[in-house]
Formats: sequence, structure tokens, C-alpha cells
Amino acid sequence: MFIPKRIFFEKKALEYEIGQRVYDKFKDKDIELIIDNKVHFPSNDNPVEKYKEGKQTLVVGVKRVSKFETCKPSADYQLPLISGCTGRCEYCYLNTKLGDKPYTKVFVNVDDILNNAKKYISKNDNITVFEGAATSDPIPVEPYTNILEKTINFFAKEKNGLFRFVTKYTDVDTLLNLNHNNHTTIRFSMNTDKIISEYEHSTPSMSRRIEASQKIMNAGYPSGFIIAPVFLYDGWKKDYSELIDKLSTLVPKDYKHDILFEVISHRYTITAKNIILNIFPNTTLPMNEDERKFKYGQFGYGKYVYTKEQLSDMKDFFTQKISSLFSKENIVYII
Ligand code: SF4
Repeated sequence: MFIPKRIFFEKKALEYEIGQRVYDKFKDKDIELIIDNKVHFPSNDNPVEKYKEGKQTLVVGVKRVSKFETCKPSADYQLPLISGCTGRCEYCYLNTKLGDKPYTKVFVNVDDILNNAKKYISKNDNITVFEGAATSDPIPVEPYTNILEKTINFFAKEKNGLFRFVTKYTDVDTLLNLNHNNHTTIRFSMNTDKIISEYEHSTPSMSRRIEASQKIMNAGYPSGFIIAPVFLYDGWKKDYSELIDKLSTLVPKDYKHDILFEVISHRYTITAKNIILNIFPNTTLPMNEDERKFKYGQFGYGKYVYTKEQLSDMKDFFTQKISSLFSKENIVYII
């Protein structure tokens, strides 16, 4: 569970039940509570300090609900419940996406957001899928916001609506007894111990993630694993092989859903690299353009990916390994 150093409350947020609940939870603790619509913290314009302070800050706000952003290929739309994350993964896309706002922000007007989702669902004759982790990891604030609980309960009753999110965190206990009606998929982001300890700061260990994913499967939720980002370091095949071996032993015998795998190789843009070097000046992330292939992405900007031969080797390895312990049909994509 994320215990912030300071919490900003937008004035209006305290008029909502969730806003008041967060205030009551922390009002007697040694935590700075600030009622102000503007977020500010001491950083001296030093990017490392700003990142550090921002990551210890929670903002409780009200979302102006309008159009939802699309979220292809993982879902149809982003569901904007929370933005930011308490983790400090060096490679994280949020470093680029959220820029100088590295704090976690929770939105208290969940009913407005879900009512808007309802409109999208009713406009579509087919199933509409919403992603709850497009700009966040929503789990660390769940024990005191219960935003996911409310959302899972909402989607359980929507015939044509599905909800999904991904997490590296383990605060899942309040979700275990919900009547989710199989309408929410909870995926876990996994990596090797080496990558977790080198680059995924302030996140749970692999074994704790495995334990949490087991709880979610035992609670009957559809589930899956995102293995990402995959780094092709010396000995990567042995480490990722051991990881998949471990995952294969944890699935409960009577689990009735297919476990889905999404596997994503490491890639970066020059913008991301510059931001990462600002925040983590001593990073050892492999970001040497000479060793990568430049590729134009679907959003018009270029990124550096592993070479064609490396990617082909990686795809063969994961296809073979996952198929041998699960089945080929369990693989959603390997990119
Ligand atoms: Fe980013 Fe996920 Fe790490 Fe959070 S846990 S910092 S969202 S990669």
C-alpha cells in the first residue's frame, strides 16, 4: 500500500465520499495534508529531486469527464480513474508521458467516469473493453480509495462492457471477494529477478507478484501475464525460462480461464532516453543506438528496437517456451 509523504486535495474533491475517506484515513498520521488545487513541492528545479518528491506525493482530484482516449490494441478506451504510479521503474513510459508531474493522482468522481463509460457501451452493439492502467498502476492506492472495487462491481453488471488492468503490485485483498462476473481481467507484469532488482525500484519482488496473481486466479478472475520489457542480456534465456517455469506451476489446477501472455521487448525513443538520463543519470539501461534498429512507430515517432535477428530469436524462444508449458493459443502477442 502506498503511504505518501504529502497529499494534495483539490477543494472540490473533499465533497466526494472517496476524497473524504482518504482525508479521514490520513488526517491523524504524520503526513502533510494540503488543500490546494495547485500541486507544488520542494524540488529546486533539480529533476532527480523533483522526481523523488513527486513519487512521494498523492493528489486527490476531480476529473473533468469528456471524451475517453482510445487504447488500441489492448482495449477500446482508456478508463481515466488514476494517473501516475508509485513505482520508480527506470524504463517506465510514464516518465515521458507525465513529464514534470511524476505524482499519483486519483479521481474521486468515479460515478461520473463510469456513467460516461456506460454511454460508450450503449453506443456499441459489440463488447466494449476499457483499460484501467493506461496511465497508471492502480493497485497501490486501492486499499484506501476502493476505486477498482467500485469499477469491478460496475462492470460485473454491464452485459457488453469489460474492464482490464495490469499491475506489478500486490494490494489485491479487497478485490478477492467481489462478484466480478468474469468481466474484469487482472494481468500481472513480470520480469526476471535481475531486471526487477536493477530497474524496477519500489516495486514488489517476483515471488510477491506471483503470490498476488495466485490470489487473483483463486478468486476466479480472468488473468494473464505481461512479460515486459524483455532485455536480451547475457543469460536472458535461462532467466526468462525459469520465470515461465515458475509461472506454470502457480496456476491453480481448477482454473477455468486461459492464461494470456503478452511479451514486449525493450524499446525506447530519444525523448524517453533524455528524460531517463535526467532522472537516473547513472542508469545502466541498454540505450545505445549503435546496437539497435530504428523503427517508425504507429504514432509517427521513431523508436529504437532490438535488431531483426535478435527479435526473431526472442520470438522463437518465447513461442517455444510458453507453448511447451501452456499452449500456443495462450500467446496474445510477442513484439
Ligand atoms: Fe511505470 Fe509500471 Fe513501474 Fe509503475 S510499476 S513505474 S507504471 S513500469
